[in-house]
Amino acid sequence: MTDIHRLGLRQTAQALQAREFSATDAVSAALERIRLTEPRIGACVTVLGESALREAKLLDESGPDPARPLWGVPLAVKDVFDLKGAPTTAGSRLLENYFPAFEATVVERLRAAGAIFVSKANCDEFAMGSTTEFSAYGPTKNPWDPALVPGGSSGGSAAAVAALQVPGAMGTDTGGSIRQPAALCGCVGLKPTYGRVSRYGIVAFASSLDQAGPFARSVGDVALLLSVIAGPDGKDSTCSARPVDDYLNLKEPKAADLTLGLPDALWSAGFEPSVDEALSAAKKALTDAGVRLKSVSMPNLRYSVATYYILAAAEASSNLARYDGVRYGQRAEGDPELVALYRRSRSQGLGPEVRRRIMLGTFVLSSGYYDAYFKKAAQTRRLILGDYQRALGECDYLLAPVTSIPAWPLGSFTDDPLTIYQLDMMTLPLNLAGGPGLSLPAGLSSAGLPVGVQLWGPSFGEAGLLSAGALLERIFPPVGPPPMAG
Ligand code: GLN
Repeated sequence: MTDIHRLGLRQTAQALQAREFSATDAVSAALERIRLTEPRIGACVTVLGESALREAKLLDESGPDPARPLWGVPLAVKDVFDLKGAPTTAGSRLLENYFPAFEATVVERLRAAGAIFVSKANCDEFAMGSTTEFSAYGPTKNPWDPALVPGGSSGGSAAAVAALQVPGAMGTDTGGSIRQPAALCGCVGLKPTYGRVSRYGIVAFASSLDQAGPFARSVGDVALLLSVIAGPDGKDSTCSARPVDDYLNLKEPKAADLTLGLPDALWSAGFEPSVDEALSAAKKALTDAGVRLKSVSMPNLRYSVATYYILAAAEASSNLARYDGVRYGQRAEGDPELVALYRRSRSQGLGPEVRRRIMLGTFVLSSGYYDAYFKKAAQTRRLILGDYQRALGECDYLLAPVTSIPAWPLGSFTDDPLTIYQLDMMTLPLNLAGGPGLSLPAGLSSAGLPVGVQLWGPSFGEAGLLSAGALLERIFPPVGPPPMAG
C-alpha cells in the first residue's frame, strides 16, 4: 500500500478498477507524497487536499466504473487551467485571487473520465519562461537535484510527475514548455498538434502556438491521457473537428522499417559534452536496433528563435491587455484616474519577464514596425513550416535533441533573457509548424542527469508518433525515478 505513488498511470488506473486499493488510498498516497517532497521541490501553487479527498470518497461510494478509464487516478494540472473551486494564478501575482466560474474543457474531460485533481502545478508567469523561476510563487526545483531548474514553463507539472507526487499531469506548450521540462526532469511529455486539444478555459499566452498536453512516466501513459483530452470542442473554434484516432492500441513499428530524419540545423548546434555523449549513445542504440537515421536539411530553423520571440510576444501583448485591474486581475489602490490605474495595476501585478514581452510585443505590432518585424516573422514562420513538411517527406519522423545543456543551476540566467531564449531553439520550430512532438528520456548523462530527445510527426499523426515513441522507449535505457524518490 505504501508504494502506490510508484505505480505508473495505467498501472494505477488498472489497480483502482480491480479494487486493489480505493480512490481514497490513491489520493492519500499522492497527498502524502506531496507533503514529503514539496518542501524540496515546490511543484505546487495550490494543493487541493480537501476537495480531492471529498471527490475520492464519492467515487469510492459508487465503486469503480470501467467506462471511466481514469477512475480515482490523482493528477496535477498546470496553474493555467481553470478548475472550479481553486484560483487560476498562471504563476502571477495579478491573478492571485482569480477564481474561475467554469472549467477548462481538458479539466472537464479528465474529471468525466474519473480523474481527481490533487494540485495546481507551478509555472512561469503566464507560461513565459524556460525554468519555472519566473513564477510569483517561487521557483520549482528539479527532483534530480534541487539546486537545478526543472525547466519550464510547465516545470511544476514535470517535477510533480518526476518526484512521484502524481502519475500524470497536464501542461501547455507554446514554444517547448511541455517537451523541455519533461526532458530535464526525465519524464515523457507530449505536445499534440495545434487544434487536437481544446484551449477553452486555459489562460492564453500566444493563441496561435499554445497547445495543452500530458506528462507521465511512460509513452503509453501519455497516450491514455491524450485519448481522454483530445477531440473537437464547440467552445474552441480553433479546435479541430477531425475525429480522434485510437491512441490506446498502438501498433509499434519494426525498428528495421523506421527511418528517422535528423534536422541538420539542430544536430549541428553544439552540445555540452555530457549531453553530447548521451545523445550519441542514444543514436547508437537506435542504429544498433536497426533504425535508419539520416540527416535532413532544414535551413530555415535557424530563424526559429527570432521568429518565435516576435510572434509570441506580439500575441501575448494582445492577449494580456485584459489584465488591467478592471476586467481581470488585482486592482492597484488609490488611483482615481483610469490610465494611471491601468499602469499601476499592471506594473504591480506583472513580473519582469511578462512586462518585457508585453513591451516587445507592443513594439513589433506598432505602426511603422509591423511590416519590419511582425509581418517578416509571419513570413518566416511559413518557411519553417515548409522545411518541416519537406523534411517529413524524406523520413517517417524527425528526431531532435531537446536542449543543448542538461538542467542548470537555479539563477544561472535570470538576468540574461537572451541566453534563455536561445536555449529554446530545439523546441520552438515545432510550435511554429503546428505539428505534434513527443519528448522522451534517452538516457542519463555522465553526471547522472536525464537527457531527452523529441520525435516530431505530421499534423494529427499522434497515433503513429506515440507508436514510434513506444519503440524508442524500449530501445533507450530506462531513466528514473530520481534518487530522491528513494
Ligand atoms: N520558453 C518559451 C517562452 O518562454 C516557451 C514557453 C511555453 O512553451 N509556454 O516563450
